[in-house]
Amino acid sequence: MGNLYLEVVTPERVVVSQQVEIVVAPGSLGEFGVLEGHVPFLTGILPGELRYTAEGKTEHLAVTTGFAEVSDNKVSVLVDAAERASEIDVERARKAMERAKERLAKDRGTPDIDFQRAEAALKRAIARIKVAEKAM
Ligand code: ATP
Repeated sequence: MGNLYLEVVTPERVVVSQQVEIVVAPGSLGEFGVLEGHVPFLTGILPGELRYTAEGKTEHLAVTTGFAEVSDNKVSVLVDAAERASEIDVERARKAMERAKERLAKDRGTPDIDFQRAEAALKRAIARIKVAEKAM
């Protein structure tokens, strides 16, 4: 097993805290991968899929917005929300996606805070649906 530790934390709970071999996460500048010995860095995290492999098994998580720090063979991810694929309620995510799409259609042409909130909600919902469907 690689000497790399992953922690995925939200304001509500610790979602992952364990030794892993590789982490792949949706960074604000694009997807990035971390193996043991990675140089230290800090990046934003955008809604998408975070996956990691431990003992040869790959786990998929949906994450929302936050940041990640890589330092001393530890990947610390702090995000607003994160769910393991098996925890995702697909029906809830589909409803959230529909609500967001309706708001975006209605508010088209008047980009304001509500528009941005709807866009962000849409991205979260899409991330959840993609991760859940992958794991099915
Ligand atoms: P919704 O409108 O359905 O609440 P949301 O994107 O606004 O979706 P968040 O604010 O990102 O929800 O998350 C609030 C809490 O609900 C977090 O703890 C998150 O993990 C959980 N959560 C949100 N959507 C889902 C889902 N589809 N399945 C499981 N947990 C979810």
